[in-house]
This record gives sequence, structure tokens and C-alpha cells, in this order.
Amino acid sequence: MSDSKKTLTLGFGAPVDNDLNSVTAGPKGPVLIQDVHVVEKLAHFDRERIPERVVHAKGAGAHGHFEVTADVTKYTRAKFLSKVGQKTDVFVRFSTVGGEKGSADSERDPRGFAVKFYTEEGNYDMVGNNTPVFFIRDAMKFPDFIHTQKRNPATNLKDPDMFWDFLSLTPESIHQVTILFSDRGTPRSYRNMNGYSSHTYMWYNAKGEHVWVQYHFKTLQGIQNFDGPEADRMRGVDPDVATRDLHNAIVKGQFPAWRVEVQIMTPQQAADYRFDPFDITKVWPHADFPPMEIGRMVLDRNPENYFAEVEQAAFSPGNFVPGIGPSPDKMLQGRLFSYPDTHRHRLGANYHLLPINAPKAAPMRNYQRDGEMRFDGNGGGGPNYWPNSFGGPAPDPSYALPPIDVAGMAARHAYVLGDIDFVQAGWLYRKVMTDTDRDHLVANIVGHLKGAQKRIQLRQTALFHKADAEYGERVAKGLGLDANEVKKLAAMSQEDRVKATEA
Ligand code: NDP
Repeated sequence: MSDSKKTLTLGFGAPVDNDLNSVTAGPKGPVLIQDVHVVEKLAHFDRERIPERVVHAKGAGAHGHFEVTADVTKYTRAKFLSKVGQKTDVFVRFSTVGGEKGSADSERDPRGFAVKFYTEEGNYDMVGNNTPVFFIRDAMKFPDFIHTQKRNPATNLKDPDMFWDFLSLTPESIHQVTILFSDRGTPRSYRNMNGYSSHTYMWYNAKGEHVWVQYHFKTLQGIQNFDGPEADRMRGVDPDVATRDLHNAIVKGQFPAWRVEVQIMTPQQAADYRFDPFDITKVWPHADFPPMEIGRMVLDRNPENYFAEVEQAAFSPGNFVPGIGPSPDKMLQGRLFSYPDTHRHRLGANYHLLPINAPKAAPMRNYQRDGEMRFDGNGGGGPNYWPNSFGGPAPDPSYALPPIDVAGMAARHAYVLGDIDFVQAGWLYRKVMTDTDRDHLVANIVGHLKGAQKRIQLRQTALFHKADAEYGERVAKGLGLDANEVKKLAAMSQEDRVKATEA
């Protein structure tokens, strides 16, 4: 008697007699189509790949929990934040951004830092990065930006001309470019980096009063980065260095942890602030908005199956719970559309039913029905429309977002490019970076920018000069550019600078 628990089966459960030899007409073949086993095996293999994420394709993840350490009920009604000591399960996915699924972990790139909180009021996703700012502030520019960070359509090679042409024509990127080309652009591991919401979000309390917040996840392992040459070497030595580090640390019981902080701005402060607080190319200075500790996040369990838990994980900055909502940040508004859209394309309309994405601590009741790969009870015999008088789930107006005051003409409002866009990159260079940080920054930029055409080098170096004269002069020197020409370009308006550096 065979042991039925161990017998190999077909997809539909029938036992398999042999998994090594196809059924053939005679020992030399041909193979008979009636061998449904070999047909099923090959056909399923042919369909193993799903679309790669268009960004954040290479990633690693882990399970853990978040624990509240401060009373924030005066700011938010979110239940998972309502009691000091309360713990909520989380799943976190870290990633690079521009590289393909098989690319190296030590590439210079921002790192994705996406946290799914399985709360009793539904899943809340904080979909951040390891940088507090971003390159652009309107999602209209996002597809173009990403095209330039990926491969040239003709050569399929990474292309410094595309990369720097776009950035030098997009001066609001200067702050993020300065972070990216510091050693924070090549973190030593996912454990040794901070996470930031980058975006501003709304928190609102039980009385419907709201504030604006930004999240900071501060690594308790300490920041550690590769310098440029180490990162280059590591791409060959161990392309999966960060994935391996996370997995092995958890296996060894060295559970990585982050202190979670928020910065809070009142609506009045936001209205009066000296720059647009919803502009994602800027941070809120700590001196004006001191970070406040609210919790601690620990990762203590590796996924059992990478595809099921990490590849199929789907995060959306639009997955809010009561007490948390969006801000007007234009880049965030674009992501609210794009994230669920890409998941529907990548995983199908019912992606939220996959075990890693489904709410674990809250019920899911609605009138969505059918669709590809609907694998739960599909609402059974209950009503599939609203309103109904058959006791179906009903909306509850007490969960409405508080109204916020917006006004203005509907138009394609451009940001006015001003010196304010260069201020924070200058602070970072002058007051935050050490001498070593600055040396590495300049070397990392020169090593990359030298691959671009000279006119593009000049245009970009003028932007570094606008952030800080010494910064621009050092890059110019490294590239062998005429310092006076860079200074002249830096003094021009962006429009004139672009004209002066045309092809
Ligand atoms: P602070 O001096 O209060 O804070 C500086 C921050 O910079 C710290 O959070 C620190 O993070 C971070 N930092 C340290 N070294 C680097 C580096 N090489 N690259 C990037 N970040 C670094 O300054 P302000 O709030 O006035 O901001 C000054 C500048 O600091 C900003 O223009 C911005 O570039 C950068 N910054 C500001 C943040 C903010 O939210 N205000 C957050 C991160 C960076 P850590 O303690 O983890 O080392």
C-alpha cells in the first residue's frame, strides 16, 4: 500500500505513478498527448512568471510586529495606535527601485520601505522609502523619470545621458540626488537604514480634528552604508547581500528593530509655513517640527515561501484605516491611483484576497463579486448590491474622513521653481554631512556623471553649485569642467541654463 500522504498528485489530486518518464510510443518516442501529466507539468511551468513590478522589482520581506509606545489618541482615532503597549502584526518589504528582479542589492538607488499593519480596522500600509524626500513632486513626471533610470530603449543599457539629462532638466530633484549620491544611496543592508513616509498624511481624532504627519522609522541597528567602491565590488561578490543579511539575521535571532517617530504639523502651521509642506522634495526641519516617538517595529519571522509572501505582497499608500487619510501632496495623489492599478495588472482584480494581502484581524464584507481567480466564497448567496433590504453590510457614516478646506481654480498649476528648491540640499551638504560624507558624495557623483555628455555635465553641475558653491566647484573640478562656466550657468534662470546647454 502506498502512503497516501506522500503520494505525488496532479493538480486536481489524482495520484501520479511516474514523474521521470513521459508516455511514449515505443522506447524512442514520440511522446503521446494522452500523457496529461507531462502536459500539465510543462504548461504550469510555462506560466510560472507573473509581470515583474515596473519599479521596486527586487525585494526582500519579513514578518514582525509594531508596538505603541506613546499616547497619540489626541491626534488619531486609529485603533491600532490607541493604547500604549498594543501590538499589531506587520509584514515589511524592502526593495531597490530601478533594478530588475535579478539585479544587485548594492546598486545605488533609493530603497523601498513598505509596511503593512494588519489592524483590527483593516490593513494599513505605509509605503515609504529610505529617503525623506523624492526626485519629483507631481506624478505626471513619474513614468518619464523612471524611464531615465532604467535602460535605453535602443541599446538596453543604463544610460548616463538619459539619467542626467532628465535630472538636470528637473531641478527640484537636487535634494534627493544629493542623498542618493551620498553613501546613503548604497545601504550596507536593509537592517541598517531608516524608513520615511516621505509623503505627508492626515491623522484625525475621534472629534474629527486633523493634523498632518510624516513618519520616520529609525534603525536601531545604526546607519551603515557601503562606500562607492565597496558597493561596486559587492555587486559581483554577493548580488543578494541585503536579502541574505535580512534572512540570516532573523534565523540567528538578531531581530532588526526600528524606533517609529512622527512629525506633526497643525493645519494652521501648514497654512502659514514658509514652503509648501506637501511638497515631497522638502523635509520638515526637525527644529520646527521635532520628531516624537510613537512606537517600535521588530521583524522576527522570515517568509516560508518567497513567491506567496513577498512577490505577491501588494502595498498601497491608499490602504488607510479610520484615523489616517491622504494629504494633498500631488505625488501621493498619483500613487493612490498607481499602486492598486499595478497590482490589478500584476496579480489580478482579486489580489486583495491573497493570504499575504487579505485583512487578518478585520472582517472583509462588500459587494465586489466574481473576477479572475476569485477563490473565496464570493459572498455566497448574500445580496450583491447596495442598497438592499436583506441585511447586507451597510456603510457607516461615522467613518467619514473629516472635511478639509480646499479652494482654487482647476488648472495645470506649475510649481514656481525658486531658490527654495536648493536650500535643503545645501543644508545637507554643509551642516549635516561630515568631511568624509562630502568626499564620498563628490566622488560618487563624478564617477557617474562623467559618463554623460559635457553639456549635460555642465547643466547638472550648475545645480550642485546653486545648492552650495563649494559643492558645485568640487564636482566641476572632479569632472575637469571650467569652474567659471559652471558659476555663470548657476547664476542663470533654469530656462536660460537649458538654452545655453542645448545639443
Ligand atoms: P537635523 O540636523 O535636525 O537632522 C538631520 C537629519 O539628517 C538626521 O535625521 C539624520 O538622520 C540625517 N542625516 C545624517 N547624515 C545624513 C546623510 N549623510 N544623508 C542624509 N541624511 C543624513 O536637520 P534638519 O531637520 O534641519 O534637516 C537638515 C537636512 O537633513 C535636510 O535638508 C535633509 O537633507 C536632511 N534630513 C532631514 C530630515 C528631516 O526629516 N528633517 C530627515 C533626514 C535627513 P540620522 O539621525 O538617522 O542619522
